Amino acid sequence: MPLEPLLPLFHRLNREHFDGTLVQGVQPLLAVRWSDGRMRRTAGMYRRGPQVAPPFGREIVLSRPLLDPLPRSATESTLCHEMIHAWVDLVVGAQESHGPHFRQRMALINRMQSRFEVSVRHRFPVPLTPARWLAVCPRCGRTAPYRRRVRNAACRPCCDRHHGGVWHASCLLRFDPIASSLFSAGVADG
Ligand SMILES: [Zn+2]
Ligand SMILES: [Zn+2]
Repeated sequence: MPLEPLLPLFHRLNREHFDGTLVQGVQPLLAVRWSDGRMRRTAGMYRRGPQVAPPFGREIVLSRPLLDPLPRSATESTLCHEMIHAWVDLVVGAQESHGPHFRQRMALINRMQSRFEVSVRHRFPVPLTPARWLAVCPRCGRTAPYRRRVRNAACRPCCDRHHGGVWHASCLLRFDPIASSLFSAGVADG
């Protein structure tokens, strides 16, 4: 299923809950887009800065990998959450993250409609990234799954036992690639 375009949703929420203040004429005050496949831990973000989405300097990014498998209301509530951040920043002009302006507007929006609920923290399931590496200690043979190779990681039990708890090159872990997602539960570096 193709991703839902975000701009129509943005314009609708802007009309319904922000008195149209996030648009000037027909032009949104910020860029709104889906992430690429990498934003896996945060459902959405609002950010600003000279390098951000020129010429806007501000943008809302929603996580494609997190929100795509969820019902539409998750996209709506995440977009709305980030729009409150944008509104606090651009319209209220306050320096806060989830402060009083944010919470007041959030409560108002939750009272006014029942399609979705905005919360301070996005509570969505984070899909597990399967471990791709198996770290092997050449000394004691202990193994642990990792998502990424860690440079110069050494086996802690062996450093403790043989080197008084100090990192030592003789306990450097070897990283072997894992072909399957056998180890997706209990990932060591997450
Ligand atoms: Zn937030
Ligand atoms: Zn070891």
